[in-house]
Amino acid sequence: MSRNRTRTISCQRCGKSFDVLIWDSLNADTDPEQREEIKKGTFNRYKCPECGFTMILQYACLYTDMSHSKQVFVIPSDFEKRLEEANRYFDLLEKKELQTVADIADNCSFRAVHDFSELREKVNMWDNGFDDAVMELYKAMTRVWLETQDDQGKPVSKAFFSSENGKDEIEVLFEDGSAGAVDFVPDLYRDITAKYSADLNSALKSRCFNVVDFDFAVNYMGGAVTDINPDSEIVEGTFT
Ligand SMILES: [Zn+2]
Repeated sequence: MSRNRTRTISCQRCGKSFDVLIWDSLNADTDPEQREEIKKGTFNRYKCPECGFTMILQYACLYTDMSHSKQVFVIPSDFEKRLEEANRYFDLLEKKELQTVADIADNCSFRAVHDFSELREKVNMWDNGFDDAVMELYKAMTRVWLETQDDQGKPVSKAFFSSENGKDEIEVLFEDGSAGAVDFVPDLYRDITAKYSADLNSALKSRCFNVVDFDFAVNYMGGAVTDINPDSEIVEGTFT
């Protein structure tokens, strides 16, 4: 069941106060329009009625998609502490708030992310038929490859899977502020799946919100993270 409430916020530009809807928990099955907003990246954007300035809010939200057996806890602040609490009380959560989760827990992927953009990325990965853990390995290898190219390597601060208009890409934000994207290479994804996916589940805990991100991928793969040479061109651009 979804649970939301009204909160009054002030515009960061003109100071006008207005009411917005905050979702403490969101059920993608009963609120599919909100799920679409998450996929588009508009879910947590709020436009000031006075000056039109759009604010992007981050707040804790439990996202449940029972049709796809996914549950994601969005934790924008006090990440480690709240994650520990959530996992400590996992059984309690199942019994009290999320009764239906108990039924699907054994087959459900539980994840913890830092913000709604990470949730958006996960939902888009899953909707396009990708495994998020395999994709994190893919992203980490791409990232290390970009950083270690002889003449043009530079530090990457973040890499995202993106699927816009049917085109899959890895968007990359470099530490120097520049951004771009590399084409997604399905053959490479298949190779990584063949090599790692059977064992990958052992790295994930059951009945626990797993953090499946860059650090997870690097820890899992160790030195193998450098084994990549995607035949792909860097497309300069900016994030939208
Ligand atoms: Zn305003």
